[in-house]
Amino acid sequence: MSAITNHLPTSELQALDAAHHMHPFSTQNDFNTRGARVITSARGCYLHDSDGVEILDAMAGLWCVNIGYGREELAEAAARQMRELPYYNTFFMTTHVPVIALAAKLADLAPGDLNHVFFASSGSEANDTNIRMVRSYWAEKGQPERDVIIGRWNGYHGSSMGSASLGGMVGMHAQGGLPIPGIAHIGQPNWWAEGGEMTAEAFGLARAQELEAKILEIGADRVGAFIAEPVQGAGGVIVAPDSYWPEVQRIVDKYGILLIADEVICGFGRTGHWFGSQAMNIRPHIMTIAKGLSSGYQPIGGSIVCDEVAAVLGACEFNHGYTYSGHPVACAVALENLRILEEEQIVERVHDVTGPYLKAQFESLADHPMVGEVKIVGMMGSLALTPDKASRAAFAAETGTVGYMVRERCFANNLIMRHVGDRMIISPPLVISESEIDLLIARARKSLDEGMAAVKAAGLWEAG
Ligand SMILES: *Cc1c(COP(=O)(O)O)cnc(C)c1O
Repeated sequence: MSAITNHLPTSELQALDAAHHMHPFSTQNDFNTRGARVITSARGCYLHDSDGVEILDAMAGLWCVNIGYGREELAEAAARQMRELPYYNTFFMTTHVPVIALAAKLADLAPGDLNHVFFASSGSEANDTNIRMVRSYWAEKGQPERDVIIGRWNGYHGSSMGSASLGGMVGMHAQGGLPIPGIAHIGQPNWWAEGGEMTAEAFGLARAQELEAKILEIGADRVGAFIAEPVQGAGGVIVAPDSYWPEVQRIVDKYGILLIADEVICGFGRTGHWFGSQAMNIRPHIMTIAKGLSSGYQPIGGSIVCDEVAAVLGACEFNHGYTYSGHPVACAVALENLRILEEEQIVERVHDVTGPYLKAQFESLADHPMVGEVKIVGMMGSLALTPDKASRAAFAAETGTVGYMVRERCFANNLIMRHVGDRMIISPPLVISESEIDLLIARARKSLDEGMAAVKAAGLWEAG
């Protein structure tokens, strides 16, 4: 048995990649001028590329490799399941053991009466499920006009037509005629960029109250649900001020709309709790899950639904499902991942030990001349870059220019730290050790130093 091994020199792999592989969220022609980095293997928190370089992955892939790379147990679980039952569906009055075990385990882990799971293969698919589920729920309750779902600008809920509509990424909406009908958006609780003269707490309250204003604008009898990430991930690790979530919960309760917590990043320990909803103390009716559910070892996602919504939906035929909903191999791998998270007390360790350590080290970057706000919850954090901390100014250059320059330095320093606009973000594997955190911070600081030098050399050290 062997994996697909690399027989070609890096430059040839890069040329074939540029010629034939269309990359997500990329400008394809960029790959013609500069080859993609070819990742060949990974262990723990480290990636290895085709030139033999070791890279510290402070993004856990795309926020997903919670238990770290290279866990044999998950490979064994997949191989075992493939031999026993590689595929079967759960349509037409059938089921199988891995999907039963995983659904029951998730019901056990999820808070409150979130006891029912509809499976998908990704977060995008799960959020598409949620749109149809919310609308079917209200139709079944005799209120079919309650079909509007409110999301947030700069929220991220996936890349399919439905999930990208729920999200508030204007660059995505601009391509392909989004949002689909029946989706509205309110502002995000990003105090650093949008808070103006308000205190963070006053701003958080104001942004939550936009939800009430939007409900009243649309009509309380027209709104079915509000969807939000407990901590915005792809939007730049935006942590809402403390005043925000209690007010959102109050409004959701007052108008009796469904709350969907998109836990695709926050779930499975990322915030130092099993779910971000617990970290933010909110009570969702539906949680979207994916990413850390399998630590990315298999594509799997889903919606965890509360008793009442499941009971209402249970009375009608829900005309929805994916060929790979509850895929047995993905379920077996997810179960093994959850076993490891639980038995090795990884979430507790993030909460009690490594999370606080990372927070202290990450916050020490606030003394860097280019770093304004530092935000971190558990193992997801962000740095706002600025030429002027006091005024929270943006750079005169186009948004993202400076962030990109710093990310290039991270790349050169063998650290995967992403930029979203001019925020630098991290989301390392939850198993990162204290000494690896030290290395992360040292490489981040070096990259910030070099990035700042490059920004100054390019004449971009100027408030916009
Ligand atoms: C990544 C992400 C999604 C989409 O998940 P995919 O598996 O990429 O489809 C949805 N919501 C959030 C919060 C995400 O971070």
